[in-house]
Amino acid sequence: KNNVLVIGAGLAGSEAAWQLVTRGIPVELAEMRPDKSSPAHHTDLFAELVCSNSLRAANIENAVGLLKEEMRRLGSLIMESADTHRVPAGGALAVDRIPFSQLITDRLKQHPLITLRREEITEIPADQICIIATGPLTSDSMAETIRRITGAEYFYFHDAAAPIVQVDSLDMTKVYRAARYGKGGADYLNCPFTKAEYEDFWQALTTAECAELHEFEKKDSVFEGCMPIEVMAGRGIDTIRYGPMKPVGLELPDTGELPYAVVQLRQDNGSATLYNLVGFQTHLKFGEQKRVFSMIPGLEHAEFIRYGVMHRNSYINSPVLLDATLQYRKNPHVFFAGQITGVEGYLESASMGLLAGINAGRLIKGKAPITFSQRTAIGGLSQYISDGPNEHFQPMNINFGIMESLGIKKRMKKKEKNGLLAQRALNEINEIKEKI
Ligand code: FAD
Repeated sequence: KNNVLVIGAGLAGSEAAWQLVTRGIPVELAEMRPDKSSPAHHTDLFAELVCSNSLRAANIENAVGLLKEEMRRLGSLIMESADTHRVPAGGALAVDRIPFSQLITDRLKQHPLITLRREEITEIPADQICIIATGPLTSDSMAETIRRITGAEYFYFHDAAAPIVQVDSLDMTKVYRAARYGKGGADYLNCPFTKAEYEDFWQALTTAECAELHEFEKKDSVFEGCMPIEVMAGRGIDTIRYGPMKPVGLELPDTGELPYAVVQLRQDNGSATLYNLVGFQTHLKFGEQKRVFSMIPGLEHAEFIRYGVMHRNSYINSPVLLDATLQYRKNPHVFFAGQITGVEGYLESASMGLLAGINAGRLIKGKAPITFSQRTAIGGLSQYISDGPNEHFQPMNINFGIMESLGIKKRMKKKEKNGLLAQRALNEINEIKEKI
């Protein structure tokens, strides 16, 4: 067929469809709502915001603000609607949610190159380029199809992620490198506790406030095999000291003594700028995570680039399955976009729709799909999720830690550094725009 099938008119699917039709390419846009809905959607509108009406920070010195500006420059419909229906929200870009989704729905529905199919798609077509953008709550039949194609071990229904910190924000005078019993060299960073530090930490952890679960998540029993750290801690003062915080085999390099307890940090990206807290999947509110986990020796001033979450989330193991063009490696006519690729957040999802739309359009016109470099926010995300096998792949928000650093040794204020990163990214986006 000479058109593209976009499956799912959420944040990613709507943006992908828009990028295609503005390039003159006909689109079949399939959306299962309202006949069938996910447990989180409430309307039949496209690009519905299922929870908060905030699209987060607006300024480009913040990575999500930069992502917005890149999308604006690349003709994003999601950003056009967000800017049109902005409501006051301090430094954030928040929107009036119904008009926001209505503008996107109307624009796509009225477009002459769009054929709307209000139906659940359960199979991936063999004779058509398609973009799978069915989101974190992909319908069951579609989830089954994706599992069948990709292999069940590469498709996840839940996200139980530990927080991630930026390595250059750690106090390395307290943290030491070692692997348990010396196995595997010195791959982990270890944060040692004295007895008093551990007891204070345990007290804070077991009394901290948890996030609210969504109704549909309360019925889920799947987290049983993967317990939140605060729940495990609640079983007794020593439980986590014999679990994820056990010190055995992790002697202190200076004295050779065992610390009372240890939090281990595991490398999270290829360039070793990010580390996750091993075994610390958690339901705590984000503010509480900052307060409590900053009590870990060495993490007093840690920059949390992602907080821990435990929620329903369908996503694929993109590092194994996808190229940075968002094409499925085994069948380049199939693209994945949105949260299902392992990005996290409204804007991140929409930006992966934008990239899939551009590339599906290029493919149908016989041009080679493009990749964005890690100097851009869009490239930071698409490269992170497709960066080769990663045993511990977890969904990711945009942040400067997954973008190429400036390579400047001089100490700089964070705002100044981020401003330079943003300017470099936007220059590159301007160049890409000329070519696509
Ligand atoms: P969606 O926007 O969900 O779009 C997928 C679309 O595909 C839906 O319209 C769905 O009806 C349709 N669909 C599914 N299966 C099929 C099928 N087989 N055939 C046809 N259509 C199908 N991110 C934030 O930044 N802030 C938040 O506050 C936030 N809250 C969230 C709350 C919940 C409960 C969840 C689950 C996620 C939340 N997210 C949030 C994360 C994420 O950014 C959003 O879910 C975002 O909407 C993802 O965009 P998407 O396009 O990938 O998926």
